[in-house]
Amino acid sequence: MAIKRPEGTKDLLPAEAQFWSQFRQTAFDLFARYGYVPLETPVFEKTELFVRGIGEASDVVGKEMYNAISGGNLAKLVAGEHVRSDSRFSLRPEGTAGVVRAIAQNGLLQEGGAPIKVAYAGPMFRAERPQNGRQRQFNQVGIECLGTDDPSVDAEGIIMLMRFFEAIGIPQDKMTLLVNTLGDESCRPAYREALKNYIVDHSAELCEDCQRRAETNPLRALDCKEEACAHVMAGAPRIEDFLCDACKEHYAQVKSYLDAAGMAYVEDQRLVRGLDYYTRTVFEVQVSVGMDNNQNAIGGGGRYDKLMAEIGGADTPGFGFALGYERCRIALEALGMQMPDPPAPALYIACVDDGQRSLAFQLAQQCRDAGIACEFDHQNRSLKAQFKQADKLKALQVAILGPDEVAAGVVKLRDMASHEEREVSLGEFVTSV
Ligand code: AMP
Repeated sequence: MAIKRPEGTKDLLPAEAQFWSQFRQTAFDLFARYGYVPLETPVFEKTELFVRGIGEASDVVGKEMYNAISGGNLAKLVAGEHVRSDSRFSLRPEGTAGVVRAIAQNGLLQEGGAPIKVAYAGPMFRAERPQNGRQRQFNQVGIECLGTDDPSVDAEGIIMLMRFFEAIGIPQDKMTLLVNTLGDESCRPAYREALKNYIVDHSAELCEDCQRRAETNPLRALDCKEEACAHVMAGAPRIEDFLCDACKEHYAQVKSYLDAAGMAYVEDQRLVRGLDYYTRTVFEVQVSVGMDNNQNAIGGGGRYDKLMAEIGGADTPGFGFALGYERCRIALEALGMQMPDPPAPALYIACVDDGQRSLAFQLAQQCRDAGIACEFDHQNRSLKAQFKQADKLKALQVAILGPDEVAAGVVKLRDMASHEEREVSLGEFVTSV
């Protein structure tokens, strides 16, 4: 086989595709209890949405987006001519910007109305260096709540995410919930400035990325994975000393809701997350099994009260999170989880010889029309080989059609577990299975 899938992508083979489908269903069922309803957006959007929403200085937009120019404009670009920004597209690197756009564009928020809560699931694309738990196409499940900045939404969302992880089989003691606040537009600028000055003062001790971040994105220096940077940044100014009263109060309320729910968490002032749109609450869930520390975040999110206005919609507060399917799967595997078996057919129809194949075909169709999962031989194989296949498929019953049975208008039905056989009339076959 010559052509292989692109590096950093995965084929979801049948057992895993089935698991992914159950995984997202478990999420949607659980999220529905909290009022979240499904919504789907395109896997590509105008590049401008991500540039304005997530921020040009973020790694995701700056280095990791898969970008495209719509067909006819490619020639213009090659010729060095200007290509309008609305014919530049990107594969979505995350779900929030698209969902917020969709809510704004479709007028889903009514003035003075209740907040809107939506859930989504699907592939995201980032041109990252592939490794265990880091892919170029990966699946996320996420939620967004738009239309209120009430801290109960943040706490409820965090609790819902933790409940989901437990529901799929990740025990509490294998997870750490980190929380932090990033302040808002009234108090963060002063913090940003203080951090910038600190980075400039210590630039000789910091990596090149962090030196650059002094101008573009100083908060990101706080979660740099380089040991030297982590050491220097441990002495950096702390957000808690800069928070305005409203942000302090908001954060205190989020924590008090979590406390009241008995939810354990660790406050981590270095948690800033990779996307620029966050304000106030940010959080991340890390897992202690299956992946090394750089890839151990299985989910995270926070509040983004300025995002909708940033992309041209009404000024509307929001909160959301996304979790990574592949990382959950790696953690679950490390915890000993097995992939589910494919569903076994209720019935396998076997023919003694070629003379019954047309009848087998018709009976199989009648069964399926009646809602019974049923399989039969497509390869003209011997009865023995058909039984082997029925065994392999773990069929619950096998119907045996032979010339004598067909002449007598009956079918033999064998229960594969008890090996008991009974004869049923052809007319009552479907209802007897
Ligand atoms: P983010 O959108 O960066 O906040 O990521 C949310 C979650 O998506 C993370 O906690 C990971 O579980 C997952 N994730 C992010 N990037 C990748 C990637 N490149 N490969 C696999 N999973 C990812």
